[in-house]
Amino acid sequence: MHCLICHQPLTEIITWSSLFTLSSQNAQPKICHQCNQKLEPITGEQCRICSRPLSKLDPKFRKQDLCYDCYNWELDPEWQGLLTQNISIFNYNDFLKDLLAQFKFRGDHELVNIFAEPIQTKCKQTFDYKNPPIIIPVPLSPERQYERGFNQAKSLAKLLSQQPLAEILERTHTEKQSKKKRSERLLTDSPFHFQADINLEHYKNKNLLIIDDIYTTGTTLRQIAKVLQSLSPNSIKSLTLARS
Ligand SMILES: [Zn+2]
Ligand SMILES: [Zn+2]
Repeated sequence: MHCLICHQPLTEIITWSSLFTLSSQNAQPKICHQCNQKLEPITGEQCRICSRPLSKLDPKFRKQDLCYDCYNWELDPEWQGLLTQNISIFNYNDFLKDLLAQFKFRGDHELVNIFAEPIQTKCKQTFDYKNPPIIIPVPLSPERQYERGFNQAKSLAKLLSQQPLAEILERTHTEKQSKKKRSERLLTDSPFHFQADINLEHYKNKNLLIIDDIYTTGTTLRQIAKVLQSLSPNSIKSLTLARS
């Protein structure tokens, strides 16, 4: 076994449980200690909605337990309360930026395995295993999917595959942006809608979990939440690998 990032040999960890069970696959480290140290898990006080670390934020860009962006989203009746919570695992530092670029754009697909353990752990911490959420990967437009060959959000979502993966959305290629008010533009220019021929009854009144690689402005996730709203969900959360 070699580190998936720097290719140094890895020493395998043999535990009593891994001697007796086959389920230890994810417990084996995929990356070396040095590479692991360059990933920065988000810790400490965070924005209640988007997981942004509040300690890194100038106090003037924070409102109680929210960052100023989420505060503004929540002020707008059109978007208020739509996204219950975004959970992010890592800070989007330069190391993770390079790693995700290698994964997404240079097609180094195996790198997804680095994130199996962190994403599964986070999901277990957040949801009751007796009542797992419906997992919805953020779709790519057909054009983008063709270019890239795979959807990184779906690859991440598959790491949680013991739960059902709901590919119920599609994304149209984004048109030129119009000159309406931001809030209206985000609504009318949303590229997301339900796929045809899906029985939506199956997805009603559930806990929904949208999966994506990065939370940047939160626009994508909220545009999706707006579509999902018609399913009268118990909650709409998102799990993103990185918070930029
Ligand atoms: Zn390494
Ligand atoms: Zn926030």
